[in-house]
Amino acid sequence: MAEKGMKPDRSFSHAKEVLFCPSAQPGLNQSLILGIVDKRGDESQVTLLSRPVKVSVGTMSAFFGSTTRPTEVFRFAAPCEKGGCRNWSGSHCRVAEQLVQILPAISAGLPECSLRPMCRWFQQEGRSACERCPQVLTDDQGFEAALNGSGPVNSPYHTDRVFGEPPILAEFQRPLPAR
Ligand code: SF4
Repeated sequence: MAEKGMKPDRSFSHAKEVLFCPSAQPGLNQSLILGIVDKRGDESQVTLLSRPVKVSVGTMSAFFGSTTRPTEVFRFAAPCEKGGCRNWSGSHCRVAEQLVQILPAISAGLPECSLRPMCRWFQQEGRSACERCPQVLTDDQGFEAALNGSGPVNSPYHTDRVFGEPPILAEFQRPLPAR
């Protein structure tokens, strides 16, 4: 859970500001490149950009016809769709809720991130989300399995916690809209 002074806030649903999902698909409206996937052997982490970059047609065209998904190279942020997303519980994001429970903190301090004032995960879970955030790879099967409580024991995301929720992150598997 979030530390003192950084309390999770699930009461902001009335707020007018747009909050961004920091692990979104690039084809969503107003999507941004949030970070670059840094592959290191079997492990990968996301290096957050000092400033998110707007996703352009050029960004997407680089992947047309490629077997590499954009989310294997970048992590994207896009406005949180709340009720339009299967990961929305009705009051909060279940991905953020679970990631702070199944992933270890890898950063003692807050990673530099200019999305923070608008980040759904930070607004909800506070710095606990940020301390784990760079490990999250969108569409990663190991992470999805861990969120669903079915990850293999040797997975870095393995958890003994049993989740009763139906499979989530299907939201992240949407095909990209034609441009
Ligand atoms: S580092 Fe924190 S504020 Fe930035 S995207 Fe990750 S969870 Fe959100």
